[in-house]
Formats: sequence, structure tokens, C-alpha cells
Amino acid sequence: MKLSNIRVVLVQTTHPGNIGAAVRAMKNMGLEKLYLVEPKHFPHADATARASGADDLLATAVVCETLEGALAGCGLVFGASARLRTIAWPQVNPRQCASVISTLDDTAEVALVFGREHAGLTNEELEQCHYLVHIPANPEFSSLNLAAAVQVLAYEARVACVDEVASQETGVTSSPMATADEMAGFYRHLEQTIIDIGFLDPANPRQLMRRLRRLFNRAHLDKMELNILRGIFAAAQKNIN
Ligand code: SAH
Repeated sequence: MKLSNIRVVLVQTTHPGNIGAAVRAMKNMGLEKLYLVEPKHFPHADATARASGADDLLATAVVCETLEGALAGCGLVFGASARLRTIAWPQVNPRQCASVISTLDDTAEVALVFGREHAGLTNEELEQCHYLVHIPANPEFSSLNLAAAVQVLAYEARVACVDEVASQETGVTSSPMATADEMAGFYRHLEQTIIDIGFLDPANPRQLMRRLRRLFNRAHLDKMELNILRGIFAAAQKNIN
């Protein structure tokens, strides 16, 4: 996995100084891609000042209207959360996150998503992530400054990815990974299929799609596997009645 293919996504950041401090942390660790979802103030002099020389990353930052837009093309998405959530979502610590990243091939695109200073990420946003990543901090004071959280994850990614031996020992998928937009299409197809075959009652969906998302996210589908499964859905839909 190339460190330069890891994108940092900041959602609705309030303080531009935090954006600057985040790119400084990124550039220190060899990360290059910043995506900003609806930043409150950007560009801004405070961001440039806090970037202290990493302002080239501010210049190439991509500003998006939605999180979905910022994740387009990403095969694997981690959502950083200061709180342990009530939703049971697969959870890793920064080292485990970095270890997963280091096993991916050089074409993989990965996103690390960070929330608002005051409110973090919503459950809906976390559901767009394959994993929740929590920095095991003091449980009585667990919320790090946004840029400090970026620093911890970026550092762990660097340590894991520059250790080439470690990444060679672990498996690499043969077909490129399915991207986030392909996975979104996959889930729409899956949902429609299980409605069509009478397995999911849209009037009473319960937690079924959430559970299925969790299951398939854990599998890190590559493009070929995704196409096989979509072929099965299409055949099932064709053969109803
Ligand atoms: N008050 C917010 C915390 C926001 S801190 C809350 O309770 O959710 C801003 C962002 O930094 C968070 O959304 C998260 O992405 C990241 N962050 C802060 N502390 C973290 C921690 N301990 N583990 C993982 N991410 C953290």
C-alpha cells in the first residue's frame, strides 16, 4: 500500500487551524491527499499558518459536498471515533487499522474519516465506513484534538507501510478491490434482490441490511467477487416465480 494513496477526509471542520495542523501531520508521515467535506472556513489564513510549510497539501485539497463524494473510488474506509458507539460496528485500534492497510496492494485507495470538533461523526456517516477506529485514550478524557487524531493514525500507517517485510508476509488480493461506489451499487442490488425474493419485508426491515453490510464489509470484496455476487443476484431476480 502506498502512503500517498491514503486520503484523509475531514467532515465539516469548524476551525481552519485544525485543517492546517492536520496537513502538517499528514505531510510529516508521507500522506498527501486531503478531502474536506463542507469545511466551515476554507481556504483560510489560519489553515495556512498552522500548515507550516505543508500548504501544498492545502492547495491540492478536494472540497466535497457530501461524504459519499469524498469516498468515491475508495476500497476501504475507516471512521475515527472518539467515543465507543452503541452501534455494534467492527472496531479496530490505530495499529490494527494500519496493519490492514499495509496488506493492500499499491493500487488500493483508503480513506481515514474524521468528524466534527464538537460532535464527531454521525452513525449514518459511520455506516459508510468499513471499520470504526478508536484511539484507546483515557476513558475519562478520550477526545483528542482533530489534528492530533490524524497524527496518530497517520503515524501508525507509516510505521506499518514502510515495514515492507511485514506487508509481504501478509496476503494481497489478486483482483483490485471493489471501490466504495461499487459497494454502494452492490448493497442497492442486494437489498432489491432480497426484497424481490421475499426475504426482506420493506415494511419491517429491522437490522438486516446493517448486518449484511457488516458481513460484506468484513470480507473486503475485490471486483471479481463483487461481480460474481451481483451475477447471482441477477439470476435470482430473473428466476422469481
Ligand atoms: N466531541 C466529539 C469529538 C470530536 S474530536 C465526540 O464526542 O465525538 C474530532 C474528531 O477527531 C473525531 O470525530 C474523531 O474523528 C477524531 N478523534 C478524536 N479523538 C479520537 C479518539 N480517541 N479515537 C479516534 N478518533 C478520535
